[in-house]
Amino acid sequence: MIRFDRVVKKFGDNTVLRELDFTVAPGEFVSLIGPSGSGKTTILRLLMTLEKVDGGMIEVGGQPLSHMPRRGKLVPADEKYLRGMRRRIGMVFQQFNLFPNMRVLQNITEAPVRALGLSREDAVRRATELLDLVGLADKADAHPTQLSGGQQQRVAIARALAMRPEVLLLDEVTSALDPELVAEVLRVLREIATTTDITILCVTHEMQFAREVSDRVMMFDRGQVLEDAPPDRLFTAPEHERTKEFLRAVI
Ligand code: ATP
Repeated sequence: MIRFDRVVKKFGDNTVLRELDFTVAPGEFVSLIGPSGSGKTTILRLLMTLEKVDGGMIEVGGQPLSHMPRRGKLVPADEKYLRGMRRRIGMVFQQFNLFPNMRVLQNITEAPVRALGLSREDAVRRATELLDLVGLADKADAHPTQLSGGQQQRVAIARALAMRPEVLLLDEVTSALDPELVAEVLRVLREIATTTDITILCVTHEMQFAREVSDRVMMFDRGQVLEDAPPDRLFTAPEHERTKEFLRAVI
């Protein structure tokens, strides 16, 4: 579960999020669409605790993220509290950022062993299952440089899932890929969306994909959710002129 409660984010004089409210329910797949510069990545960066809120509050899994409970009050979260919360959140970026000097399997087992204290044996078992899920069981011993971009991105997805996050954040995960490699990554995400109960917030320019897999689509503009609807409604009968304009431009 993700909850934004009147979240304000500013960069200098530029107010990027204006008392933003939204919720992603447990197990839901929500896509975030909207014009460039409207603040979509900022939302993900706040959830990754790479930025701090200037107002309001963020919750993940029913627990505050931007703040922590202290003597019956909520105070800004400190680094130790954030470290605990970050483990509950997985992220896949545009750039796959695999560890280039490690084989595929070790890319996936490293964090669970180091950060979760999993035995190497359990981590390998889990990594093998995940490689199977992303269709790369035969690449466990490959080096990232021996893989295509689409395969590297699928390893990055497996790596994020290996930490068993409650929430998975996807930031334009196909935009650095050659067009013919996009489908294989989207197929894996579709599989994850339908077979796991993970909560997913996905920033995407792939409208067809957003339409097929999302439970809800949020159209975001100028720091606010302009429209929030099931995909069939948002794509076929958008309410706002601004959404219609945006969809005309991108589809
Ligand atoms: P895109 O689709 O192009 O990735 P976006 O919707 O993800 O865009 P953001 O990257 O969240 O948009 O940016 C929202 C606004 O915040 C922009 O005006 C941007 O210039 C500004 N911004 C983002 N990060 C910073 C920063 N670190 N310092 C100053 N301004 C920033």
